[in-house]
Amino acid sequence: MRLFHIVPLCAALTLANFTQNTLARSLNEQTGGCIVACKRLTNSFPSQVLQRNTSAYRNFTDAYWAEQQQNMFPQCVFQPADASEAAVLIRLVQETHCPFAVRSGGHGAFTGVSNIQDGIVVSLMLLNETVVSEDSTRVSVGVGNRWLDVYKSLENRGITIAGGRYPTVGVGGLSVGGGASFFANARGWTCDNILGYELITANGSIIQVSNSSFPDLHWALRGGGNNFGLITKMHFEAFPLRNGLMWGGLRVSFESEIPAILQAAYNLGTIGAESDPGVGQIINVVRYQGIKVAVAILSYINPIERPPVMAEFLSIPTVNASTDTTRVRTLTNLSAELGGDNPLGEDSGNKRRGRGTATFRLSVEMLTYAKDVCFEEFDSAAYVEELDSVCVFQVITRPQLTASAHRGGNAFGLDPADGPLFLLNVVLSWPHAADDVRVGQVSRNIIERTTEYARARGYDMDFLYMNYAGEFQDVFSGYGAVNKARLAAIAKKYDPTGVFQRLQPGYFKLAGVSSST
Ligand SMILES: Cc1cc2nc3c(=O)[nH]c(=O)nc-3n(C[C@H](O)[C@H](O)[C@H](O)COP(=O)(O)OP(=O)(O)OC[C@H]3O[C@@H](n4cnc5c(N)ncnc54)[C@H](O)[C@@H]3O)c2cc1C
Repeated sequence: MRLFHIVPLCAALTLANFTQNTLARSLNEQTGGCIVACKRLTNSFPSQVLQRNTSAYRNFTDAYWAEQQQNMFPQCVFQPADASEAAVLIRLVQETHCPFAVRSGGHGAFTGVSNIQDGIVVSLMLLNETVVSEDSTRVSVGVGNRWLDVYKSLENRGITIAGGRYPTVGVGGLSVGGGASFFANARGWTCDNILGYELITANGSIIQVSNSSFPDLHWALRGGGNNFGLITKMHFEAFPLRNGLMWGGLRVSFESEIPAILQAAYNLGTIGAESDPGVGQIINVVRYQGIKVAVAILSYINPIERPPVMAEFLSIPTVNASTDTTRVRTLTNLSAELGGDNPLGEDSGNKRRGRGTATFRLSVEMLTYAKDVCFEEFDSAAYVEELDSVCVFQVITRPQLTASAHRGGNAFGLDPADGPLFLLNVVLSWPHAADDVRVGQVSRNIIERTTEYARARGYDMDFLYMNYAGEFQDVFSGYGAVNKARLAAIAKKYDPTGVFQRLQPGYFKLAGVSSST
């Protein structure tokens, strides 16, 4: 080898050593900072810090929905009991340069969404109050609540809010990403129903954000994720739900019924939704233990048996009588069923999780193509042990987009004229890390193939729904260049040093696609 080859090589090696040493030093400094921060928190709040090597800590990390998140071990877990304690944490992490993550219900689907190796996890579980205003038009909800607890506490008052459908999903995470509810057709996204927020900003101030106090932040918090601060309370618009009752349930049908189901879904998402704002539907195309079925989750806001607007769906045969659970019931009861023992049951043990999403203009052709692609890709990975595969089809109806706009809109960049839209969500669960790459490819393939097909036929839309997105997706570009730039400018205004970008590295960041895979 000649000298002129060796000199650049030596320079490159020196640079590599320097970079490695710098990286190692900064990691050591970070860990050291977190050790200091955890000690100080323990001194000030001895009963609110979970320490490594304790059963409380292990129970906490075991309770993440995705196994990828269970396998991360923070230096400690801090549980603030009110906004002022949460503000202490935000100041402390800056002083000690300790990275952190925030966990509400822990249903984030990939590494680092709400857990962090060697950093501090802020668990919101003690922020669990639900306070109804005197005139019952407003409910203030602590962000550590899970949706089932919120519904339970509102049931006897005959009111509810447009929150999540699954019982154990957190109020915090669902709401910062948007929020698809049983009541979306009438009320827009969950975030559109949030009139105000209690927020800890980067400098540790506690501010009350509403459309009149901080209109830019209020807009940004509606769909902007965890980029603007730590929210401790959300003030929701409430609405009547007579005796807490509605109609709804699951209907499981064989694969042969799927064409009829997709046609019914299209009709309900267009004519049905336009004529009756009370309707809701989620169509799940499922490959479960080798069997292909469709699971339609139907809902109606009024407690009427077999609502006429659901007639087309109700005429489609189910596997047997017991696989139709639709009936008049409380919202609490309906939500609880979704978390229970059914093909979509979320409590199915420790599983690795994968997600992906896309949005298209609604058509039966697009629904049918997506169903075919989902089953083809599921089949191609059938050898993966205990793989559960679901494609979830939902309609973002025109009334939903109009209800959103009436409530002041959000950061999504969707217009009522865009609707109705078909929201696709791929959800995969499997037990072994050795299959991560293969299974990850399944959701990427489904998203790529359906997107290509849509583009060629004019059904394509840029919007990516944060709550359903995979780590490989660039959610904020999907909101459109103008909204993305506006969000970045608002983040810079309230967080000039980038505390919520740098020190809280997980989930979708405004700087670009999340790299925390
Ligand atoms: C079984 C299941 C059912 C689902 N059903 C629905 C549904 O019906 N509708 C729907 O829209 N989505 C649904 N989702 C998606 C769900 O909304 C997202 O996964 C959401 O991020 C989960 O919120 P979490 O609080 O449980 O998760 P977490 O992992 O605790 O939080 C998710 C993210 O939100 C951030 N965050 C949480 N709280 C705050 C806060 N107070 N301030 C700032 N940032 C915060 C966290 O930092 C984290 O990055 C479902 C998911 C699962 C797994």
